[in-house]
Amino acid sequence: QAKARGRGTLCVFAAEMDIHLRARLEMELDLSQALAKGQLELAYQPIFTVASGRLCGFEALLRWNHPRRGLIDPAFFVPLAEESRAIVEIGAWAMRGAMADAAKLPDHLRLAINLSPIQIGFGNIVETVRDALRESGVAPGRIELEITETALFANDQPILDILLGLRESGVRIVLDDFGTGYSSLARLRLLPLDKIKIDRSFVHDAGAQSSGEAIIEAIAALASRLGMATTAEGIETPEQWDMVRRARCTEAQGFLLGKPCSPREAAALASAAGAWPANGGCAPAGSS
Ligand code: C2E
Ligand code: MG
Ligand code: MG
Ligand code: MG
Repeated sequence: QAKARGRGTLCVFAAEMDIHLRARLEMELDLSQALAKGQLELAYQPIFTVASGRLCGFEALLRWNHPRRGLIDPAFFVPLAEESRAIVEIGAWAMRGAMADAAKLPDHLRLAINLSPIQIGFGNIVETVRDALRESGVAPGRIELEITETALFANDQPILDILLGLRESGVRIVLDDFGTGYSSLARLRLLPLDKIKIDRSFVHDAGAQSSGEAIIEAIAALASRLGMATTAEGIETPEQWDMVRRARCTEAQGFLLGKPCSPREAAALASAAGAWPANGGCAPAGSS
């Protein structure tokens, strides 16, 4: 009896796998056409200077407006696009769009763009960045490229040359999601990094009884000694905002301060140009 049930379970499991596989293949096919069909968009999340509470820039975040499934999260489709290497083309498109939008924003605001390890490993990223800079006319110093630890340490030598090449074009290099990988600040200091984004898991772990705050404080202090700025990600509560102020992080980003919004909303926020919380973000959660 157990055996029969076992086999039944296996059949259901196999059928389910088949459905997942089909769905996945279908999504991959859809994704390969998404760019040409104009289904990809950029959302902009505001970033604030901690000391003044003022808006200092935005991070460009990809969105896929799927005709049947609606808005799809990058956490789902970016890995698919990386697997098929469609991310090389999609990433270049995102970069051109983000830089064109940055050129329309006030000069003191910076714009952060995420780079996939696949773009670094398989695309000619230095040339792509230079072309996009030239095409948009944006001042290179306003552009930040966000790279994760996995991308930095995929293979030992080539990445340094690429980072130096990018830096030569005048853009800044930012390490994204710091703390989720295995690299130490000692190892990172060998790379030309301008800023470290502290992963939101530390921010969310920062309560009276936990080590999150101590860790953020230590990262901010050490980064500052090494000449790097810090951004705290994922600020969702006023307590977390107070905490990153105490820890002296340079910048902060999160749903409390402002959610990702449309290019038009971002431009409106930029021209309002006040300090948080007086002027809020695009859609400040829990604002009073
Ligand atoms: P990321 O670069 O770490 O971007 C920050 C993510 O955290 C965004 O998710 C943002 O909406 C989310 N976030 C911001 N504030 C909060 C908060 O207070 N609480 C919580 N829970 N989340 C917050 P999103 O837009 O879904 O993007 C997810 C990831 O997808 C990004 O993480 C980035 O790794 C990747 N991604 C997005 N756009 C691009 C792109 O153009 N190219 C590449 N290669 N990757 C991208
Ligand atoms: Mg990022
Ligand atoms: Mg991040
Ligand atoms: Mg992330």
